[in-house]
Amino acid sequence: MKTLAKAKAEPGIWMVDAPKPQVGPNDVLIKITKTAICGTDMHIYKWDDWAQKTIPVPMAVGHEYVGVVAEVGSEVRGLKIGQRVSGEGHLVCGHCRNCRAGRRHLCRNTVGVGVNRTGAFAEYLSIPAENAFPIPDDIPDEIAAIFDPFGNATHTALSFEMVGEDVLITGAGPIGIMAVAICRHVGARHIVITDVNEYRLGLAKKMGATRAVNVSKENIKDVMKELKMNEGFDVGLEMSGVPQAFRSMLEVMNHGGKIAMLGIPPSEAAIDWNQVIFKGLIIKGIYGREMYETWYKMVAMIQSGLDLTPIITHQFPVDEFQQGFETMASGNSGKVVLSWT
Ligand code: NAD
Ligand code: ZN
Repeated sequence: MKTLAKAKAEPGIWMVDAPKPQVGPNDVLIKITKTAICGTDMHIYKWDDWAQKTIPVPMAVGHEYVGVVAEVGSEVRGLKIGQRVSGEGHLVCGHCRNCRAGRRHLCRNTVGVGVNRTGAFAEYLSIPAENAFPIPDDIPDEIAAIFDPFGNATHTALSFEMVGEDVLITGAGPIGIMAVAICRHVGARHIVITDVNEYRLGLAKKMGATRAVNVSKENIKDVMKELKMNEGFDVGLEMSGVPQAFRSMLEVMNHGGKIAMLGIPPSEAAIDWNQVIFKGLIIKGIYGREMYETWYKMVAMIQSGLDLTPIITHQFPVDEFQQGFETMASGNSGKVVLSWT
C-alpha cells in the first residue's frame, strides 16, 4: 500500500510502498480517506533536533485523519465495517493509575500514532478499536480529518469557565485560530489573539477574534485600553510555544486569572514568578485530548453551529504531498488536507 514515510534520517518525506498492517483481535483497520498535516509532521519533515531524537526511521508518519472501518478484530464490539471514523492518536496503557481511574489523557505510558509507532499517512491504519471515534453523517470528511488538533484546541479552551470572560490567546497557528472559534461559540466576551504572522491573524479575525494583534507592531496593553479592559484577562490560552508570548501573557492577566498551556517551548524558559504568585494565577498544562469527553464536545459544538471550514485553506490529492508540506512550511496557510481517494 501507499505510505508517506520518514524513509531517511534527513529533511524530507517520501512516498513508499509498505505492507498492509496486521489487525489484532482488539484492533480495527481503517481505510484512510483524508489526512491533515500537523505542526509535529513539519518538525519531522524538517528533521529538527526533536525529530532526530524521537522518530524511528523508516516509519509512516501522520496522526490527523478520517477513514472508513475496513476490518474489525475478533474481540471488537460496537464498530462496524463501513463506518466512518477519526481516531485518538494517543494509545494509552490501560493499567496505570490514571488509566484505571478513567483519566486516560494523563496516562504515563502514552504512545503516539505517527510519532512513536506507525502512522496514518497511508492507505490503511490499524489501531486499537477503543481509539477509533465514530463520526456522525452530518460532519464532512475534511472537518473530521482535523479532529485531533481541534481536540487540542477544545481541551485547552474548555479547561476553564469561558462564558462572559475576556480571553487572551497567544499564537494564531491552526490550533490558536480554532480556539478563537470555540471561545466565541461558547460565549466569551473579548477574544484577543496574538501572532507575528499577518496571514494567520487575518484568519483568526475571520473566525471571531475581537482583535487580532501583531505583537511585532502593536502592544497588547494598548489594545486593552481600546477595549476598555481596565483590569486584565480572565483566561489565557498559550498556543505559540514562544517564551516571550507567555511572559507577556503573565503581565496582562487579571488577579485570579487562569492559564491553560498547550504550546511547547523549545527549551527551559525563565518567567517572572512574582506575576504568578502575587496575582494568584492558576496555570494548567494541557496534553492531547480528554478521552473521550473532548471528542463528544467536538461533535456537539459542530452540530450546534461551530463552523471550522475557514481554517482548511488548502486541499491536495495525496500525490501532491510535496506541495502540501511546502504550503504548510510557508506559514501562509491554515490546515492543509491531503486526499487519499
Ligand atoms: P504553530 O507553530 O502553527 O503555531 C504557533 C504560532 O505562534 C505561529 O503562527 C507563530 O507565528 C506564532 N508566534 C510566533 N511568535 C509569537 C509571539 N511572539 N507571540 C505570539 N505568537 C507567536 O502551531 P500549532 O499547530 O497551532 O500548535 C500550537 C502549539 O501547540 C505549538 O507549540 C505546538 O507544538 C503545541 N502543541 C501541543 C500539543 C499538546 O498536546 N500539548 C498538541 C499539539 C500542538
Ligand atoms: Zn496508562
